[in-house]
Amino acid sequence: MQSIINDIAEQMAQSPDKGIVASYIPQLAKIDPNQFAISVALPNGEIYSAGCAQTTFSIQSVSKVFTLTLALGKLGESIWSRVGREPSGDPFNSIVQLEHEHGKPRNPFINAGAIAVADAIMQGHQPKETLAEIVQFIRFLANDESIVIDEKVARSEVETGTRNASLAYFMASFGLFENSVDAVLGTYFHHCSIAMNTHQLATAGLFLANNGINPSTGYAVVSPQRAKRINALMLTCGHYDGSGEFAFRVGLPGKSGVGGGILAIAPGKASIAVWSPGLDVIGNSKLGTEALELFASKTGWSVFGQ
Ligand code: GLN
Repeated sequence: MQSIINDIAEQMAQSPDKGIVASYIPQLAKIDPNQFAISVALPNGEIYSAGCAQTTFSIQSVSKVFTLTLALGKLGESIWSRVGREPSGDPFNSIVQLEHEHGKPRNPFINAGAIAVADAIMQGHQPKETLAEIVQFIRFLANDESIVIDEKVARSEVETGTRNASLAYFMASFGLFENSVDAVLGTYFHHCSIAMNTHQLATAGLFLANNGINPSTGYAVVSPQRAKRINALMLTCGHYDGSGEFAFRVGLPGKSGVGGGILAIAPGKASIAVWSPGLDVIGNSKLGTEALELFASKTGWSVFGQ
């Protein structure tokens, strides 16, 4: 495993086209695109890393996997009255389908869906309390108390988040929100701004590769059925309008973020986190996807076969 990922990291370092860092969140535009990390966490507790696996980055939309998991735990299946389970085929920040579907977002991984999930999780609590719960949950999953929100990134998102505010106010106009729109947006922007490294992220995702059980603690985070379903949503919706392409090239459930991170799950085998800040045109990590494509072909771990 170590030599597989060393090879991948070496190949990525030589890649001439590293993609373009997200610029619509000014704080993310400052990140050096010449960085790459990969970590592979196995259910037996072994973890292998290559590249800058100790460098933290903004997990952005990868956080939506954890907020969905939390929402399922709090609300159970009733969360599906707030958000659908179909790929959208539209960009992550698109508003178009919301009007046709009466303010119900297509899935929990597009921005509108994650904002609706944030509203559902809050249940009348202040953003601070909900954020403390989200961060605590991620620390528990990663078995690492040092994980925090990057306040600079959060502020940068609040200051430039007019599109997300539009999505939220549009949904609220259908009478769907339980909390104030500003409180929900505050919660959403801050959970997107959680900073982690690939070592922590791969560890945090391990329950999804291990039938819902976090092997570092032995606790069941979710039932095997729920883990399977979260993986299904990651596969079909985790890369927005690039989900089909990601399934075609990589063949693993995966969730990307505009910070350049991707969490990918090889069910029964491993949780893999990659990070490279340069993005493709859709907003998914360019080298991260290439690295996972190589990884899946070298290991034969695609869910669709060798
Ligand atoms: N916080 C980002 C946003 O709301 C998340 C988008 C992403 O990672 N795709 O735009």
